[in-house]
Amino acid sequence: MNLHSGCFSDDEIVRLLSLTDPVEIEELRRNAYDLATAEVGDTVHYRGIVEFSNICTLDCHYCGIRKSNRDVERYCLSQEETVQAALWCAEAGYGSCVLQSGERRDEKFVVFVEECIRQIRDKSVSDSLPQGLGITLSLGEQLLDTYHRWREAGAHRYLLRIETTNKRLFAHLHPAAQCFSNRLQALDDLREAGFQVGTGVMIGLPGQTVSDLCADIRFFAGRDIDMIGMGPYIVSRGGGMVDQGMMEREALLLLSLKMIAATRLVLRDVNIAATTALQTLAPDGRERGIAFGANVTMPNVTPISVRRNYQLYDGKPCLDEGGWECRSCLERRIAAAGRRVGWNEWGDSRHYGRRIAV
Ligand code: SAM
Repeated sequence: MNLHSGCFSDDEIVRLLSLTDPVEIEELRRNAYDLATAEVGDTVHYRGIVEFSNICTLDCHYCGIRKSNRDVERYCLSQEETVQAALWCAEAGYGSCVLQSGERRDEKFVVFVEECIRQIRDKSVSDSLPQGLGITLSLGEQLLDTYHRWREAGAHRYLLRIETTNKRLFAHLHPAAQCFSNRLQALDDLREAGFQVGTGVMIGLPGQTVSDLCADIRFFAGRDIDMIGMGPYIVSRGGGMVDQGMMEREALLLLSLKMIAATRLVLRDVNIAATTALQTLAPDGRERGIAFGANVTMPNVTPISVRRNYQLYDGKPCLDEGGWECRSCLERRIAAAGRRVGWNEWGDSRHYGRRIAV
């Protein structure tokens, strides 16, 4: 199979995701890494993630902060705390932040986010960041009008995972009220509101096959997606799927890495995140993600006092690590993967740049 062509049949993608021979896996990795260098450069971009609230009105069965988990102490940072955490990213040279929380759609929440975005954009302008911090949102399904308001306030990227494109599996993972078609509509609405749109899936879900993952990659390509944030599914004691277990950790890590590499080979110039969940499976999980073709990472900048209440899955790493400590640890990890950090850069997806130029 020609790994440079950018043209793969479904059978070929399934074969890449199923590789077990270390020599073939290394060939896949090398090709994905080299293609990332050629298409998106040798820099890795940081987006400091502020998990500003774990209050959630939804009940996704896999998630540790779902509404019906009574064992979580709920919190919502103040506007000032949220803005401060984001501004720390500007100070540390991160270039961008992500605002993430449990899902709420009430007007008070919409205004809270709108105000945080405005303040972050205004207060982060400096000589090194003349346009202020880049702002990504990860706040779930909202009304089109809400997306417009947040875009106008100054956020410009939005991450909304489809979670899986297998509709039967999607229905199994969510209560009936959360339907697949609404999620598709939300992805369309985000595009209409002018966001750079990111999506992604959980890898290794109970009942998921490599053909499903191949269909997920086709979905990313078919929707002309700008950014991908995907990671391993890790069981959560607070979720409703404990009895269904999870994949064996080493196999799950390998599958996640092959998924990053295959996605890079098919989509080429998109941004792909090496997510924190990779590091839950192995201490060097994130740098291995970068070595398999990812070019974005999301260090946690949530205040340590609330971090352990945002456990989406068991064993989430870096719960006690302060910002500066995490910054230098990550820089070492990125250098170990042969990359450098894009300090003070937004690091927008090249795919997005090409898409809007057309
Ligand atoms: N509410 C927003 C949303 O749904 O997009 C943002 C918060 S949500 C907790 C962020 C992501 O966490 C989800 O898209 C999901 O993929 C991931 N997640 C939740 N539980 C997980 C688990 N057990 N393993 C891996 N990822 C998980």
